[in-house]
Amino acid sequence: MLNDLSEVTQRLRRVCSQEVDVSGSYQAFLQDIIDEGRTTLAVSRVSVWLFDDHTQPCFLLNVANTDWSSNADQTDYAKLSYERYPAYFDALMTGESIAAHDAETDARTAEFTYEYLRPNGITTMLDTVIFKNGVPHGIVCCEGDGGPRQWQMAEVSYAEIIADCCSRRILVSELWALQQQLTDLAFQDALTGLKNRRYLMDYADREISRHTRAELPLSMVMVDIDHFKAINDTYGHEVGDIVLQAFASCCKQVLRTEDCLCRLGGEEFIAILPHTNADNAYHVAERLRIALSQEQIRYGPEKIMISVSCGVTQVNLQLPFSQSLKQADHAVYQAKAEGRNRVVRG
Ligand code: GH3
Ligand code: MG
Ligand code: MG
Repeated sequence: MLNDLSEVTQRLRRVCSQEVDVSGSYQAFLQDIIDEGRTTLAVSRVSVWLFDDHTQPCFLLNVANTDWSSNADQTDYAKLSYERYPAYFDALMTGESIAAHDAETDARTAEFTYEYLRPNGITTMLDTVIFKNGVPHGIVCCEGDGGPRQWQMAEVSYAEIIADCCSRRILVSELWALQQQLTDLAFQDALTGLKNRRYLMDYADREISRHTRAELPLSMVMVDIDHFKAINDTYGHEVGDIVLQAFASCCKQVLRTEDCLCRLGGEEFIAILPHTNADNAYHVAERLRIALSQEQIRYGPEKIMISVSCGVTQVNLQLPFSQSLKQADHAVYQAKAEGRNRVVRG
């Protein structure tokens, strides 16, 4: 029984104010809150469940549980279905807390009796709703064994604060995910989905440090589509865009997953090849050139063929990346001058 609500509430609020890593699983970032709730309420378990859909929920998914360890990486969440527990879902959707003193006789929780309450020795439940934008988003479920329990007003209020603390953490994690998406977009080329120049510059600096430390070679291939302007002029800019997309997917098939293909701008691309020396990079560039020259890009009845000029260079790990970039650019220029559709080492 809670005698001093203000003291335990303040403790919970302080726990909730701790900085936690919200990039991980729900379990990881809700663990401290539900552990605190379990101790304070002296219940056998506290679990957090989220609705699969907030407008028309069919399921509640168990995302955190005091029985799990903080690093439990749940991917296969236990589920409760609306179909099986309609009275329980309907009660939760009102947003009111469910203080079921005797969970077997309370109309809102009696549906659990034979499948869940009796087999697990649970006798009493206190469920409070997690809101998002004022709408039920999930629940915090506190379960007790050892007979029915008369839940006090203070305990219900406290459990509601647990739900609010969970709600806040979940909101922060959603904001974090949104920010991640924005960051990803800022480093991505919208047309091809490849990384962009901004990404390349940061990435190259990181790779130069990493390769210097490991004393490994780092190379790059600069690729420029030949006479691309003529494709635009002949078929239109829209078709030019389709060609750029086809180019990107063809390159991705040739390159390894650890290689990084970026769009420098227009019809110029660069592939950074980790752990690769100039000889091997030359072979990669040749493979790219051949694969691209064999690619038939379909647009309606048209089959568009392209060729590319490539400049290959091993990145000088002692110099700024821009120097190696210039060298590769110069090699591309030379490939163009020598008649295009070829690879030149810079
Ligand atoms: P070269 O063989 O010397 O490289 O000739 P090129 O025609 O490929 O090179 P140039 O630099 O003259 O022309 C590049 C063209 O690429 C001009 C530009 O309109 C076009 N371009 C740049 N970005 C895009 C794009 O996002 N979509 C389309 N469709 N065209 C683009
Ligand atoms: Mg070109
Ligand atoms: Mg160009």
